[in-house]
Amino acid sequence: MSLNGTYDDNNIFAKILRGEAAAVKVFENEDVLAFMDLFPQARGHLLVVPKKVRARNFLDLPAAHVEPLMAHVHKLAIAVEKALKPDGLTVVQFNGAPAGQTVFHLHFHIIPRYEGVALAGHGHANRADIPELQKIAAEIAAAL
Ligand code: AMP
Repeated sequence: MSLNGTYDDNNIFAKILRGEAAAVKVFENEDVLAFMDLFPQARGHLLVVPKKVRARNFLDLPAAHVEPLMAHVHKLAIAVEKALKPDGLTVVQFNGAPAGQTVFHLHFHIIPRYEGVALAGHGHANRADIPELQKIAAEIAAAL
């Protein structure tokens, strides 16, 4: 998938947004949905996606949607820090397959980092235990 192309309505995040696929949700309003990454690179790996837009990547995002999305990424990053007390926090976003993107609905990763704990490989991490994700999601939601 190149940087440019057509939005695929059957991508997994579009299905999650339509309620056709399951997700462990942390926060949702009319602008964004935040849910736990099913293959976390670290404990507490969170994804934030914009709603109501067919944006494959950050470049596709209409300007009017930038502020609400980024404001929520900021708010959620603060909640992750407050809830999980990591030693660091990576906030990252990939555009196009050559940049590492694997799901083509725009999303930001918020990844807690822990001293001495290596990050699992992007796209190569193990599938998480759902009850464990639900527990972490509740902790983050409580910190919002
Ligand atoms: P990217 O490679 O930047 O497009 O990130 C896509 C992310 O989505 C990866 O970190 C995957 O682990 C994650 N992912 C893939 N499928 C699901 C799913 N069904 N629910 C939650 N996260 C997912």
